[in-house]
Amino acid sequence: MQAEIIAVGTEILLGQITNTNSTYIARGLAALGIDSYYQTVVGDNQQRLMMAIGIAAQRSDLVILVGGLGPTKDDLTKQTLASYLNVPLVEEPTAMQVITHHFEQTKQPMTVNNRLQALYPQGAAPLTNHNGLAIGAFYQSADSADFVLLPGPPREMQRMFDTEVQPRLQAVYGQQSHIYSRVLRFYGITESMLATELQSLIEHQKTVTIAPYAKTHEVTLRLSVQAETQAVATDSLDAVEKQIRARVGEYCYGYGDDNSLVKVVIEQMIAAHLSITAAESLTAGLFQSTIGGVPGVSAIFPGGFVTYANAAKHQLVNVPQTIIDTAGVVSEATAKAMATGAKRQLTTETALSFTGAAGPDALEGQPAGTVWIGLAYRDQPVVAKLYHFTGDRQQIREHSVMAGLDLLRRALAADQRL
Ligand code: ATP
Ligand code: MG
Repeated sequence: MQAEIIAVGTEILLGQITNTNSTYIARGLAALGIDSYYQTVVGDNQQRLMMAIGIAAQRSDLVILVGGLGPTKDDLTKQTLASYLNVPLVEEPTAMQVITHHFEQTKQPMTVNNRLQALYPQGAAPLTNHNGLAIGAFYQSADSADFVLLPGPPREMQRMFDTEVQPRLQAVYGQQSHIYSRVLRFYGITESMLATELQSLIEHQKTVTIAPYAKTHEVTLRLSVQAETQAVATDSLDAVEKQIRARVGEYCYGYGDDNSLVKVVIEQMIAAHLSITAAESLTAGLFQSTIGGVPGVSAIFPGGFVTYANAAKHQLVNVPQTIIDTAGVVSEATAKAMATGAKRQLTTETALSFTGAAGPDALEGQPAGTVWIGLAYRDQPVVAKLYHFTGDRQQIREHSVMAGLDLLRRALAADQRL
């Protein structure tokens, strides 16, 4: 069973809209366990669309056409498919009633071309449009590929795919197995390093496929498996995850597409009732703003400090002037003093500090990207770690925030009392 998708619309070819419809359908097919091998985009042009349909029908069992079902002259997907199949377009009475009723209600004149939206290729099963007027169709053919026609507006297309198409595909192609996947999230390891560490697993993957993706400041791994039930899939995914964790587990901080390092760390701190504050120099509040984005953080975050100037480091978090004078502002001693001072000022259980050169210029002879991050964690001795980040000013500040969160994550993981 092989499917493919043809998105119709000159707007897509011109880059005016992004082809989110194909993505949505592709995901739906994958979830059904239907392989999709090609995606095509073709403009609103009858001749080229006809050619695309011909090519697709030869190499696939199912061709999903999306877009161009509307009433206007550039909408010609339905007509082109009917002419390819050599069948007439026929009217769906209920859809026609809906259309006439719509125009009566809105007191607008109904032009003849609106009737087109109630037409479907003879022999097909018409598909209801719950969010619009143009109906879709599912055409099964004994001697050629099967076809699905879907409207272009995403709201209409998605609803029709979920309620009308998906159950029919399931019934007709009788796919019992589904694709189950699991996303693992990593921080502190590059995509290439991750791929190298997991090379033998990736190369010898059998039932479970392992695919790394680089994201901003982090990497994800998607594990996918085709299985008949969730329980079987979970067993396979667990086994592979265990092997992955044995190699790179220390960098893995969580699961899921919709997740982040800050969410994982802060939620863990909320659950453990561990309060946090920060004294920020080069990040100037970015760390606090980032944790502020997690719902419920107010339970553990009383506030904190932006200590940009040396005087502010002294006034707000009591960094002794002698430390700044002798060790310098970008130093282990200053980072430790900032974290200790912040923690004491607000009597929190933990505190982070950030001091460094955000660039583009060097600071105290330290090149841009040199950053010290301090961590005062519960009753443990305060620690500070040196980093050398690359990128522009904003990237260096973002890297610093992520690295601070990771320091915290590791401290939480090592905390025997949690
Ligand atoms: P209408 O009745 O609105 O004309 P239609 O079925 O004829 O619907 P199109 O004319 O192809 O569909 O597209 C209508 C709108 O739907 C586009 O302007 C665009 O906003 C959106 N759209 C179309 N195709 C896609 C796509 N592949 N991905 C995302 N959005 C799309
Ligand atoms: Mg249209």
